[in-house]
Amino acid sequence: MKILALSDRVDPRIYSSFCKERFGDVDCIISCGDLPEYYLDFVVSTLNVPLFFVHGNHDAPREQESLAGGTNLDERVICYRNVLIAGLEGCYWYNGNPHQYTEREMYWKYLRLLPRLLFARLKHGRYLDILVTHAPPKGVHEGQDPPHRGFATFTHILKKYRPRYHLHGHVHLYGSAQDVATQFLDTLVVNCYGYQVIEIVPEKG
Ligand SMILES: [Zn+2]
Repeated sequence: MKILALSDRVDPRIYSSFCKERFGDVDCIISCGDLPEYYLDFVVSTLNVPLFFVHGNHDAPREQESLAGGTNLDERVICYRNVLIAGLEGCYWYNGNPHQYTEREMYWKYLRLLPRLLFARLKHGRYLDILVTHAPPKGVHEGQDPPHRGFATFTHILKKYRPRYHLHGHVHLYGSAQDVATQFLDTLVVNCYGYQVIEIVPEKG
């Protein structure tokens, strides 16, 4: 399954009349947040595939449950073409605006996600294949300033449930010096700033 993962930046290679030509073979779109709805609308209507998303800290308050007709992944596990995708929105608390959480609040969000992970394990024999968040995990791709710190809760999820991918955004990439993809235990952690194309072979069963 081919995934077009987007985050943080309206990319001119996607927001273009060549979008269908370049990305017409993707099976779904995942947004890791901080993207305007007009852009997501454009990508969804151009590629005509489902959108799954989490909100970033620059997105409108949480009444905006739906975005461009997509499915909000926050605190949920969805199964799409036998790929299990779980999400946790937002970033580290820094000024009290929406979609910001302390580590303790994020841990509570994880506890609300937990029954869904356990249900997925019962039904599909595994907890999740892809973790989608806006912020990075603690220790991987994180920034030094308070807003861009990584969550220890995410690192805990990677250690305990071993997803194949962790897609995040939030950490802007300004040059080639920053890592885009980092292997952490069994998980490839991918910063989707701009866009990334991910190919995942669905598990059987
Ligand atoms: Zn952000």
